[in-house]
Amino acid sequence: MAASTKAGVTLTGVSKTFGDFTAVHPLDLTIPQGSFFALLGASGCGKTTTLRMIAGLERPTTGRVLLGEQDVTALPPHKRHVNTVFQSYALFPHLDVFDNVGFGLRRRGVRSVKKQVEEVLELVELGHLARRKPNQLSGGQQQRVALARAVVNRPEVLLLDEPLGALDLKLRRQMQLELKHIQTEVGITFVHVTHDQEEAMTMADTIAVMNGGRVEQLGAPAELYENPKTAFVANFLGQSNLIAAEVAWRSGEELLLQVGDAKLTLPASRTHAAAANPGAKVLAGIRPEKIAMVGRADAARVPQGRNMLPGTVVDASFTGVSTQYVVSSPYGQELAVFAQNVERGGFAPGAEVVLHWDPQHTFGLDGRQDID
Ligand code: ATP
Repeated sequence: MAASTKAGVTLTGVSKTFGDFTAVHPLDLTIPQGSFFALLGASGCGKTTTLRMIAGLERPTTGRVLLGEQDVTALPPHKRHVNTVFQSYALFPHLDVFDNVGFGLRRRGVRSVKKQVEEVLELVELGHLARRKPNQLSGGQQQRVALARAVVNRPEVLLLDEPLGALDLKLRRQMQLELKHIQTEVGITFVHVTHDQEEAMTMADTIAVMNGGRVEQLGAPAELYENPKTAFVANFLGQSNLIAAEVAWRSGEELLLQVGDAKLTLPASRTHAAAANPGAKVLAGIRPEKIAMVGRADAARVPQGRNMLPGTVVDASFTGVSTQYVVSSPYGQELAVFAQNVERGGFAPGAEVVLHWDPQHTFGLDGRQDID
C-alpha cells in the first residue's frame, strides 16, 4: 500500500531536555501515513528519545505529538495506537509462537483471535512453526514473532527501535527486505530507528538524518545520497570527497571553483553554500564511485568539459567488485576513488594519474564547516 498524503505522525516543536542537557532540540516533523520512515544517526543523536516521545514513554519538554489528527501529547503509552518492537524482543518463554502472537488480542477479548494470528503468521512466514516455543527458534525467527505480535494489534504506527541489532549481518540484510515487504503489505506507518545507513537506505521511503539532537536533513534515500546538504550527511550516507575550494566566478547555472592551480565546475543548482559569491569558501563534493582515473600520460584523452584534478596513487585495495584507491592531490587533500573492476590491470601506489568526472555529479557545501 502506498503512503498517503495524510499525516501518520506529526511532531510540532517537540524537544526533550534531561536536566540541563538537550537531547532533542525543537523538532518539526510530519511522517506520512502508511510510509516507512527512518530516524538515522550515530549513537546519542536523540533518535531513541524521539521515538520514545512518539510512543509516550517519554514526555516532551516542549511541543505536541499527533497520531493522525489526534493530539496524544498527554496520553500514556497504552492509550496510543502504537506498538514498539525493540532489539530485545522479550517473548514469553513458556508460550508457543501462536500464543505469544495472540496474547494481546486475547487479553483485550478480541474475537477471531485464531484467524488474525494465522494471517499474521503467514505474513511473517512462520505459520509452520506456530507450536514452537521461543527457545526452539533462531534469532531471526524470534524477531519475526515479535514483529507479528506487534502487527497483529493493527496499530496506527509501529515503532521499531534497532529491531535487527542483535542479528548477524546476513540475517539482518534478509530481514530488512522482509520488513519492507511486511510494511508494504500491512500499510501501517513504520518509524524505524537505526544507526546503520545501509539499513535505512534499503527500507525507508524517507530518512531523517539526526545529528546532535537535530534533524540535519530529511529526504528520500536517493535524494540524500545524491544531494547532501552538509558534510555530516555527505559522509554519514556513504563516503564523499570534500575538496576545499574557493568560488572564482559565477555565470548563470554554473560556478567555477579554484582548487590550487586547478579549476572545477559546480552546478549552481547543487550548491548548498549560504554564500556562493566570488571569494566564498566552499567544499566541492564528489562521490568516490563517480570519479574515473587515467594515467598522467593519457590526460589529453580525457573528454572536454570534465572536472579534472592531478594526483598520485597512495594506496590501492582490491575488494572484488571494485578497487578502492587513495589518491593524494597536490593541493593537500587525499581523495578516495572506487573503480569498477571491469578491466584488468589498474594503478599501483606511486602512479601519477589524472582524476576526472562529470561536473554534474559535483555538489557544493558551505566551506565553513567541519569535514571530519
Ligand atoms: P543510541 O543509538 O545509542 O540509542 P540515540 O541516538 O538513540 O543513541 P538517545 O538514546 O535518544 O540517543 O539519547 C540522546 C542523548 O540523551 C544521549 O546523550 C543520552 O545520554 C541522553 N539521554 C537519554 N535518556 C536520558 C535520560 N533518561 N537521562 C539523561 N540523559 C539521557
